[in-house]
Amino acid sequence: MSAMVAKKPRIVIIGAGMAGLTAANKLYTSPGSEELFKLCVVEGGTRIGGRINTSEFCGDRIEMGATWIHGIGGSPVHKIAQEIHSLESEQPWECMDGFLDDPLTVAEGGYELKPSLVDSISNLFGKLMEFAQGKLNEECSSNEEVNYYKLAAKAFKICASNGGPGKLSLGSFLRQGLNAYWDSVKDQEEIKGYGSWSLKLLEEAIFAMHENTQRTYTSAGDLLTLDYDAESEYQLFPGEEITIAKGYLSIIESLASVLPAGSIQLGRKVTKIEWQPNIPQSLGMENGHGTRPVKLHFCDGSTMSADHVIVTVSLGVLKAGIHEDSGKEALELEFLKDEEIINGVSATISSLLSNSRHQENSKSKEFCNGNLNSVEIPEGKEINFTKVLKSRWGTDPLFLGSYSYVAVGSSSDDLDNLAEPLPQNTSYGSNASPPLLQILFAGEATHRTHYSTTHGAYFSGLREANRLLQYYHSTGV
Ligand SMILES: Cc1cc2nc3c(=O)[nH]c(=O)nc-3n(C[C@H](O)[C@H](O)[C@H](O)COP(=O)(O)OP(=O)(O)OC[C@H]3O[C@@H](n4cnc5c(N)ncnc54)[C@H](O)[C@@H]3O)c2cc1C
Repeated sequence: MSAMVAKKPRIVIIGAGMAGLTAANKLYTSPGSEELFKLCVVEGGTRIGGRINTSEFCGDRIEMGATWIHGIGGSPVHKIAQEIHSLESEQPWECMDGFLDDPLTVAEGGYELKPSLVDSISNLFGKLMEFAQGKLNEECSSNEEVNYYKLAAKAFKICASNGGPGKLSLGSFLRQGLNAYWDSVKDQEEIKGYGSWSLKLLEEAIFAMHENTQRTYTSAGDLLTLDYDAESEYQLFPGEEITIAKGYLSIIESLASVLPAGSIQLGRKVTKIEWQPNIPQSLGMENGHGTRPVKLHFCDGSTMSADHVIVTVSLGVLKAGIHEDSGKEALELEFLKDEEIINGVSATISSLLSNSRHQENSKSKEFCNGNLNSVEIPEGKEINFTKVLKSRWGTDPLFLGSYSYVAVGSSSDDLDNLAEPLPQNTSYGSNASPPLLQILFAGEATHRTHYSTTHGAYFSGLREANRLLQYYHSTGV
């Protein structure tokens, strides 16, 4: 008599970033998982972490990718960091927590701006953002000197009548908001003592400064391409935004530490995935004893078969091949030579410090957010940077971008669609069992409300691991 040995289903996770390793961690640590399936992670690069990459530069630990825990209240990343004591370190690190108590705004030409001037425009910008996020209260605004709610509602109305549904950008709303503000303060007195700067130009420049900060939060090269509606769905955790003293990579290492040696395979870039659109679940279950429905092809020509694959590659990688103009500015920066960067940054910082009356104040050094060891500050006013460490997230074929945003013309529903597994459920009759989960999708760009962040990636990995665990428990495979 010959005994038939059942092959365990094989789950392959593509990508050893936050989403992939969270999924692997969850699947591997679930009770009884070793009996249920075999698991491996294939990573195209030579390191784990993906867009988390803690590095060293001139003796300091620095982050090339993810840097902050965006809001510590309820963040799973913060919870892990606390559990593994990563928030304290004896070694120097790029600490960028909190805000300067007494920030100084300097306009070109070395003109220090009065805080009241900066505050009024900063306040306006903040209120417009609150309106876009659905957080501005009409009643509270009516008691304020400027009725921001009314002003924002006016800006929204103008934009909506210009655009139509799905066409409204955050950028156009903000600019209409600034125009509405100027209309409401038409009779302001002109200011003096700022060279050729007029009040309106200064206000516009302060507003643009906030727009640029907003661009970095959202990764949109231009706020005119950022969908307005998605902004109100995006969720932030409350509390401080902090950096991780022992490095963001310590979170990744902690997630990976539970996996058996050899389960993460580096240098395994997937070039093609073949799957079977027409296999119903019944065949899939037999499949545990026969051929696996998914076939992965790697860049070295080798192949691997799998029952389930969780794809966690970035949106940029998924979209590779589609021609797009977005991110032009970031790409231009990536192509700059080291020498050009050193000269440009040295000149800008020198000019700011030499023009600032605060130059003797030690605080001025905080302009150089990051590594002061590599910056020589001589008696004169010149500062010379000597070394450059460059990331290339935009052009690296394993990333092709930094993090996702919802562009005008798309919507938050697209993020949900990205998270839908293949084959799709809809192709089967209502009485038929659901199709075998062949390809599942995780990664920050698949999370409707926390996209773009490490915790969004974490939640997406957890979601897909749970989808598979539920599938196994409900089918009893
Ligand atoms: C400069 C920068 C700053 C950031 N700052 C913050 C921040 O302060 N706070 C925050 O919360 N988030 C930040 N982020 C975003 C955050 O890093 C990401 O959202 C998160 O790390 C994404 O994780 P992921 O697992 O979805 O994707 P990834 O980290 O991209 O993981 C996907 C993995 O798939 C691999 N891969 C790609 N193609 C293939 C292939 N064909 N075959 C095999 N493997 C492949 C990649 O090498 C990668 O390791 C920042 C990102 C960048 C770039």
